[in-house]
Amino acid sequence: MRSLTSNTVSKRPLRLFNTLTRELSAFKPRDPPDVRMYSCGPTVYADQHIGNMRAYVFADTLKRTLRWKGYRVHHVINVTDVGHLTSDGDVGDDKLEVAARREQRSIWEIAEHYTGAFKADLARLRVGEPDLWPRATDHIPQMVAFAEALDRAGWCYVLPSGLYFDTSRDDDYGKLARLDVEGQLEGARVEAVEGKRNASDFAVWRTADPAAKRQMEWDSPWGRGAPGWHLECSVMSIEHLGGHFDIHTGGVDHVPIHHTNEIAQSEAFLDDGEDWVRWWLHGEFINLKGAKISKSTGGGVLVDDLFDRGYHPLVYRYLLLQAHYRSQIEFSWQALDSARTGLRRLLGRYAPARTAHAAVSSAAARAHLDAFDVAVSDDLNTAKALAVVAAASRDDALSDRELSALGAEFDAVLAIGLTDLSAADLDLKRVDVDVTPTDIETLTAERSSARVARDFARSDDLRDQLAELGVIVEDHADGTSSWRWA
Ligand SMILES: [Zn+2]
Repeated sequence: MRSLTSNTVSKRPLRLFNTLTRELSAFKPRDPPDVRMYSCGPTVYADQHIGNMRAYVFADTLKRTLRWKGYRVHHVINVTDVGHLTSDGDVGDDKLEVAARREQRSIWEIAEHYTGAFKADLARLRVGEPDLWPRATDHIPQMVAFAEALDRAGWCYVLPSGLYFDTSRDDDYGKLARLDVEGQLEGARVEAVEGKRNASDFAVWRTADPAAKRQMEWDSPWGRGAPGWHLECSVMSIEHLGGHFDIHTGGVDHVPIHHTNEIAQSEAFLDDGEDWVRWWLHGEFINLKGAKISKSTGGGVLVDDLFDRGYHPLVYRYLLLQAHYRSQIEFSWQALDSARTGLRRLLGRYAPARTAHAAVSSAAARAHLDAFDVAVSDDLNTAKALAVVAAASRDDALSDRELSALGAEFDAVLAIGLTDLSAADLDLKRVDVDVTPTDIETLTAERSSARVARDFARSDDLRDQLAELGVIVEDHADGTSSWRWA
């Protein structure tokens, strides 16, 4: 393990924005140098688009920064394979059950398939694996025991549809989101469940409708059914990281309901007057509307789509790191092109400088490393950190040995290929899996016929279609055409 103070630079305390306090302050784990961290994982019912992946790139950057500063991070990401409903309001069907019907596969096959796809995408984005991937369905007895404890202590009430947590009994309810519990916020968001005492009450256990044929059901004191989604995260995080751990991460969309409810039931369960988790960190969205990809699945852009369009996945990681994790980003292919240009330029300088015996030795090199530390210590300001990476790449005062050493330090946090990729590695050939050269020949031949027939509208239309596939068509003076990959 790296010592808290490396021999090259004295690293600063890490300041982080805590959603719970709405303040930026120096991070202090309960038991340094150990840091216990939980990130809400995916519901494995469909492919995760690149927007979903932003939360994991953020958690990974946090984890890498903590490690770079000498902490020993114990990280858990759960896999939600049951209990996440199509609505946040305790109504609707389980997402896994819906997917199993849609794809006519068993829920177990669905979960396995999409868990594998998710892990493969994380690897391609160089998001490090957590120490543990607990699955919700492996923790049902613990979930039942947790719910029983809440019920025994008087926090819950039973309805025909399940066991509900009575949020009016919790004076602190909604503290994370600063919810006005009396107000209409949750009333507007949450669809009504018959018999619910308060709009914000939530299901800890949902009793299955005996008429509905469901693949996933377990016995409980409240009838056969399945755990609530929020319960799963409370149980798995406490089981694997201890009653109180240091950091809980997720997307901003988790603040008003999911994390709010995790906190309510966990603090009711622990009942020791302490905050369950002291540090709550939330990543913002990336808006994918600018991607203009229309897929039959109706989903957003996948990591596979990046490949198909000739983008190395780390170009996307670089794009994300250009913004602060708490700012919204608008995705566009032009922005991704600029990110590729930027990363290509960096690799063009770092790759040739790579040497075996690298060391940060001179004052100039130490100054870059220090500037980098200032940036990441400021609530993970990766945009500033990338500016330092670029500044170092342009600094003629640095020897190759020094730039190589700096690249290794920077990449330990950013993971953008500074230690092992070259600029040429970003030049992926655009291969649309559905398009072969024969298809393109067919389209270009069709376009030639349209030109011969002087149907220029059709001809332009075909040229656009080809451009969309990454093909540039060139018309020659003799009336013939040829094509090449863009
Ligand atoms: Zn969660």
